[in-house]
Parts: sequence; structure tokens; C-alpha cells
Amino acid sequence: MSYTLPKLPYAYDALEPFIDAKTMEIHHTKHHQTYIDKLNAAVKGTDLEDGDLKEILSDTDSIPDKIRDAVINHGGGHINHSLFWQILTHKSPKKPSDSLSKAINSRFESFEKFKEEFSKAALTRFGSGWAWLVVSKGKLEIISTPNQDSPLMDNKTPILGLDVWEHAYYLKYQNKRQEYIDAFWNIINWDKVQELYEEALE
Ligand code: MN
Repeated sequence: MSYTLPKLPYAYDALEPFIDAKTMEIHHTKHHQTYIDKLNAAVKGTDLEDGDLKEILSDTDSIPDKIRDAVINHGGGHINHSLFWQILTHKSPKKPSDSLSKAINSRFESFEKFKEEFSKAALTRFGSGWAWLVVSKGKLEIISTPNQDSPLMDNKTPILGLDVWEHAYYLKYQNKRQEYIDAFWNIINWDKVQELYEEALE
């Protein structure tokens, strides 16, 4: 058994003009595929070959020394991107609803304050990494991680993530990460985030 590239739930140009088609195609078929190829190469012939990647990344101490860094980097790359594709859409309300909306308002005061704090986490992540909305011990939290580190490594469940590696935005936005972050708010699949929120609370 080996890891494979998930299909996108929309076309490469579906997120235009916020994320351009060329970036989506390269990001999906080259960057994400490479994480998968390197993950498969790392776990080949080990017990992890048939493991559940979520469980593996939630307990990195149990990964054999020789392949730990490779699994964290490439397994993280695979699981982070798989989530990222799912929480994007071209057709969605611009704000969360239901229980997630209530939880955001109670934890961050308002959706605007939440947006501000999340954007700041994405902007100030030095170098490559991710900004996240996670569920930690039943509560919402905004964090950022370097490289392809998954929040699962700290026992936090990601429900929304923004890739701030330059490969995610450089073609269209060059060095203007802030503009890419601003664009992100137009293409969030809040129905999916709501679903992930409910799952994380189970
Ligand atoms: Mn990426």
C-alpha cells in the first residue's frame, strides 16, 4: 500500500482570481506529489507503510530514528496539503455559521478579531510554514507551524490551514504575502471547516 495524490474537489482555475490556475496546478501535481513520493520512499518496507498517517504524526516518538525527519516533513506535507485543498472553494458563504461561528465569537470576541489574529499568525510565520485554526482539548486556538510540521504533532486537530510557503503564492503575489492572506478569506469552504470542527469535538 502506498500514499497517493488526492483529486482536487474543483478545477485548477476554480479559485481565480484569488489563487491562479498555474499556481494550483504546480502546487498540486508537483509540490504535493513530491511530498507523497518522498513519504512513500521513506516508509517503504517499514511498519509505517500500512499505518494511519494521522496516528503516526500524533506520536512522532514512535517513528524509527532513521526515518523520523522524513516522515515529519513529507508525511506532514501530504496531510497538510490534503486538508488545504478541502477547505478551499469558489462557492461558499464568506463566514462560518452554526456552532463554529458561536465558538469563534466566544473564543475571539468576533469574526473580525479572529480574522485579524489568524492573518497575523500567517504573516509573521518566518520563512516557510502554515497558519492554523485548531481544536485543542475541545477549544479553538490559532497557531502557526514551521516547514511542514503538522499540529497533530502537538495533539492539536487542524480544521483550517493556510499554506504560507512561497510556492503557494509567489507566481501571482511575489513577495506580497499579505495580499495572498487577504485573498484567502474569499475562498474558504466554511461548510467543510464546520464539518471538521464537529469531527474534532467527537
Ligand atoms: Mn504547499
